[in-house]
Amino acid sequence: MYPSAFEYHRAASVSDALALMAQFGDDAKVLAGGHSLLPVMKLRFASPAHLIDIGRIPALSGITEAGGQVVIGAMTRHAELASSAVLARSATALSDAAASIGDVQVRNRGTIGGSLAHADPAADLPPVMLALGALIGATGAKGARTISADAYFTGTFATSLASGELVTEIRIPVPAAGSGSAYTKHADAASGYAVVGAAALVTVTGGTISAARVAITGMSPMAMRLSSVESALTGQPATAASVAAAARSAGGGLELYDDANASAAYKANLVAVYVTRALTQALARAAT
Ligand code: FAD
Repeated sequence: MYPSAFEYHRAASVSDALALMAQFGDDAKVLAGGHSLLPVMKLRFASPAHLIDIGRIPALSGITEAGGQVVIGAMTRHAELASSAVLARSATALSDAAASIGDVQVRNRGTIGGSLAHADPAADLPPVMLALGALIGATGAKGARTISADAYFTGTFATSLASGELVTEIRIPVPAAGSGSAYTKHADAASGYAVVGAAALVTVTGGTISAARVAITGMSPMAMRLSSVESALTGQPATAASVAAAARSAGGGLELYDDANASAAYKANLVAVYVTRALTQALARAAT
């Protein structure tokens, strides 16, 4: 399948990209890694007349840690996320998730900004953004703003990005001492996308779980936090028994249906299993 004809524009800077986006409006799409956009164009679900390539803007790439935050440029590739020593130390769940995406080719092309803008309900990075309390930096004609991950994902393939806004960076607060995070998933055998994926961040203070953030992907219209699991954990001893008790309710608030792949009961169990695994690994990392 071939996409319909389009005009290619290479943006040299963020302001250049924004000017092109303003000039072509809804007739244009931003091109990052192309690993979600090009399949959609080949299927003719999208036929933009203009593609604005943001792949050669140095300011959009890289991972740094400063002032208690990890700052990741929107064009940073999944492979760079997976191999980053900064993320392995300060946002381990993001290292886990990036390493689990697709195959080598997908990880070498796909970007964090592209994944978050696309907002696939089975993508791996959105639940990690929710669990780690990420802030998404966006710039448009009205200037720059920061959107919390909790407010950013609004539905299936939908975000609170305004038309003409570019994701420029992702900021992740460095977790408090005694914290650990992890991401685990049950992958679809063909695509690698998550049938279910779970991300967790826990903080342990004096043997007690003092804070917990848990989010899932793949089993709901968009990545979402599991607030019942978070509250069941908070204040409990940092033990396997606490995790097991909290994870039992993980599938409770989800609208799960029987389908050709699995029954609703099976899916609820799968969510509980993967939430348990993510929490167990996060707790183990909090202890090191
Ligand atoms: P693109 O495809 O270039 O863009 C995607 C959309 O976002 C477009 O609408 C584009 O206009 C917009 N966009 C891109 N960047 C920005 C920006 N900075 N600001 C605003 N809008 C922007 N993902 C997973 O999570 N897990 C998997 O296991 C997985 N497996 C895959 C397997 C295959 C075979 C393929 C082809 C893809 C897979 N993916 C998977 C998706 C992959 O991670 C994509 O790379 C990602 O979803 C999109 O990133 P991209 O950089 O390729 O974006």
